[in-house]
Amino acid sequence: MASVVSNKQVMTGTFLMWLECAGISLEARPGQFVMVHCGEETVLRRPLSIHQADGGKFALLYAIIGKGTQWLSQCSPGVEVDILGPLGNGFMVYPDSRNLLLIAGGIGIAPLMSLADRAISDGRNVILLYGTANKDRYHLPSGVTEVAATEDGSIGYKGMITELVPEHVEWADQIFACGPLPMYRAMAKMSELKNKPVQVSLEMRMGCGMGTCYACTIRTRQGLKQVCKDGPVFDMNDVIWEEIKT
Ligand SMILES: Cc1cc2nc3c(=O)[nH]c(=O)nc-3n(C[C@H](O)[C@H](O)[C@H](O)COP(=O)(O)OP(=O)(O)OC[C@H]3O[C@@H](n4cnc5c(N)ncnc54)[C@H](O)[C@@H]3O)c2cc1C
Repeated sequence: MASVVSNKQVMTGTFLMWLECAGISLEARPGQFVMVHCGEETVLRRPLSIHQADGGKFALLYAIIGKGTQWLSQCSPGVEVDILGPLGNGFMVYPDSRNLLLIAGGIGIAPLMSLADRAISDGRNVILLYGTANKDRYHLPSGVTEVAATEDGSIGYKGMITELVPEHVEWADQIFACGPLPMYRAMAKMSELKNKPVQVSLEMRMGCGMGTCYACTIRTRQGLKQVCKDGPVFDMNDVIWEEIKT
């Protein structure tokens, strides 16, 4: 059980929730997620990424989509939430990687924040490409070098965040991405990325989060994989993008 410390709307329809639970926060690696029991009306737990961890507390950054996340948004400080985790593999940063390029599309910023935090405290260089539809976007904590793109041009580059990827590829030792499927499809077609280590976090509908139900199974170039247990982070070039449907 994790106790809600705070739960605030940080942009339209998106909340940042901090919870007290040392068992999760001290164990969590960037890119891992938790399964959250969202009240009595939802049977299945909902997967949410660990957004940040700080001592005995960790944060979730979540968009209100349906019943579960709506329920979560109404939890006040002090409420105890039933949470399972940390789960999944998380991002893998190689010891000798100095320059990390992070690419976030929309709510895909959620798992990348803890990766940025960890990398910066390890003395690595981080550039975060963060794309949103408009200026209603998450205000990043300081310390991260952000390159912004908005589809309507209200902040930063006008267009898709993927259009900024090629100019940063050479600088990067490793690339990490989280965003919607069209963002990944665009990246998978980029010749600049073919020989780069690119890790992507996949969002598939999942039932159990622990590899028991097989609901989130995908076919990869390394065979069948369960997104919850073998992922959610995969090598971009191992994923057979034509077969992925969410
Ligand atoms: C590993 C993982 C990490 C995630 N991390 C985050 C995060 O940090 N922040 C965040 O806002 N969201 C995240 N998601 C997506 C999140 O799990 C869904 O938005 C959430 O389960 C919706 O639950 P709900 O009850 O509010 O909506 P529901 O009523 O369950 O669903 C409403 C609609 O949302 C869509 N949906 C539901 N679940 C998913 C899903 N897993 N993937 C894609 N579409 C879905 C479906 O189309 C569904 O019809 C993550 C998903 C995965 C698999």
